[in-house]
Amino acid sequence: MPAATVSPGAQTPGAGRYAPSPSGDLHLGNLRTALLAWLFARASGRRFLMRVEDLDRARDSGGANRQLADLRGLGIEWDGEVVFQTDRGKLYTAAIERLSARGLVYECTCTRRDILAAPTAPHAPPGAYPGTCRNRSEGERAVARAAIAPRLPALRLRAPLGDEVLTEFPDLMLGTGRGDIDDFVLRRGDNTVAYNLAVVVDDAEMGIDQVVRGDDLAPSTPRQILLQQLLGLPTPEYAHVPLVLGPDSARLAKRDGAVTLAQLRDHGVSDTEVRGELAASLGLAFEGERPSMDTLLARFDPAKLPREPWIWHPRE
Ligand code: GLU
Repeated sequence: MPAATVSPGAQTPGAGRYAPSPSGDLHLGNLRTALLAWLFARASGRRFLMRVEDLDRARDSGGANRQLADLRGLGIEWDGEVVFQTDRGKLYTAAIERLSARGLVYECTCTRRDILAAPTAPHAPPGAYPGTCRNRSEGERAVARAAIAPRLPALRLRAPLGDEVLTEFPDLMLGTGRGDIDDFVLRRGDNTVAYNLAVVVDDAEMGIDQVVRGDDLAPSTPRQILLQQLLGLPTPEYAHVPLVLGPDSARLAKRDGAVTLAQLRDHGVSDTEVRGELAASLGLAFEGERPSMDTLLARFDPAKLPREPWIWHPRE
């Protein structure tokens, strides 16, 4: 019997996503990025998915639920169930095993202090892992492992060296995004799967073909693209959007005043007003206007988005 074939037109539509870390209430910077991710996805006919990146902390569903409620409050709706990274350990382990089977993973027993103290390789980018544990024999590895017990070794990617590694990528907002690649961590010594690995596995598994996120994450992207290539996964399109800065030109933070929806509500500012303010900062609304999500979608044109950070000033 001939194998079933998928007709070319039957591909499922791609998807965009927002992937908050539940580390407290979302602030205006997070909300603005979420709004942009929603607009990019919907304007291109994609589904929009939600993923809670909770690997770093014990599941705090209270924190995640507040974030999700705030996103809804702003008018951001997503398709399907919310994905929680803490439910997906098996997928990450399987990916690490696939890399490991090809000799692309090694154990690293270095502490942060070891890494800082080690001489850096010539031409290595600043902060790059110096390769201390890269070429250990099986015997040396066993000794090193025993020396740090009960702490576990971290797992690092044996990244290809030299010119074949892509450190630039096309980006809808930046034109060209850039970042360095070294032997980065895949699983930490505390057994937590590292961000770059989890993101790559999740984006591919969820069918995400468009990643919109803050431009502070652009330098991680070449590492993620390398992992996609090594795992045989597709590379999504990227749009790294400008951050919101506080009045001191540092990244917006809680110390800057009322920056979350809950705090702004306490100041008598409704969620709809916040949406209007974010929209105005993106050139999608007049000051004081309160446009609906549909209106924003109708006005959205990625080419016209501001390329600079938005400096936010607290209310008097
Ligand atoms: N969880 C990350 C954050 O909240 C975003 C990761 C991503 O979009 O790739 O900053």
